[in-house]
Amino acid sequence: MTVRTRFAPSPTGKLHLGHAMAAWVAKALADAHGGVFLLRHEDIDLTRVREEYYGGIEEDLRWLGLDWQGAPLRQTARIPAYDAALERLKDMEVVYPCFCTRREIHEMGAPQGPEGPIYPGTCRELPAEIRDEKLSSGLSHAWRLDAGKAACRAGRRLTFNDLMHGVAVVDEDLLGDVVLARKDIGTAYHLAVVVDDAFQEITHVTRGEDLLHSTHVHRLLQELLGLPEPVYLHHPLVLDESGKRLAKRHDALAIAAMRDAGVSPEEILPRIQDPAVIRAITASTTSGSV
Ligand code: GLU
Repeated sequence: MTVRTRFAPSPTGKLHLGHAMAAWVAKALADAHGGVFLLRHEDIDLTRVREEYYGGIEEDLRWLGLDWQGAPLRQTARIPAYDAALERLKDMEVVYPCFCTRREIHEMGAPQGPEGPIYPGTCRELPAEIRDEKLSSGLSHAWRLDAGKAACRAGRRLTFNDLMHGVAVVDEDLLGDVVLARKDIGTAYHLAVVVDDAFQEITHVTRGEDLLHSTHVHRLLQELLGLPEPVYLHHPLVLDESGKRLAKRHDALAIAAMRDAGVSPEEILPRIQDPAVIRAITASTTSGSV
């Protein structure tokens, strides 16, 4: 098996140190196995994407020596594939339209989950005739996963293997009924990422620990859509001087700003080459866990 990894930035800002680490992890894992490292622009959120960021990200990656193979994939070219996946989930009746606004959800006092409020399932409970009436009146709506139904439909206990965190049992309640198609853009991260990782034949999904919870949703979607299960590696995040997560506002840590200030790639790479990640990658080459 050829190991295939990817770096999947959103061209909604400049590449900063945190992204550079994600790219390095994906490339290092592919290189350790003589595999392939790919680039995918996750550009479905057209409200935030800016054209100059595609080239900026690519330039910064090359400057750091984190070159990828082949032409980068753009998610905006893949909308029909996400639509088809959503249609399949509709046929399985594991998604439902949600008419609630962000504000309404806030006012419902929804409990906070690890990635924002857990939707209380208001629209899941709508009687069929009211739902149909709202749909046919053209009311704007998102599509949400019915996490409980989806887990039943999957019909078996799902797990995933992470090279740094070990095996986890999927908990469909962790993020609840997540949005799989946003009102404004007709698709959403969780669905697009799963469809594209399969399309690009990614064997190892590497990304920051902040997305560990999302993997529970992704495994469920892979199972429902009959897609292969990748191995995962969720890596630690780069922290700022005060121990907090880097945010996009840390402009000084944008790779381009560092380059302009005369910092060299040789000075940047040691800041992102996490020893625990290196150990996990090395172990994966000898343990047969791949
Ligand atoms: N586009 C996502 C981000 O920038 C990456 C998600 C992933 O690697 O699965 O956070």
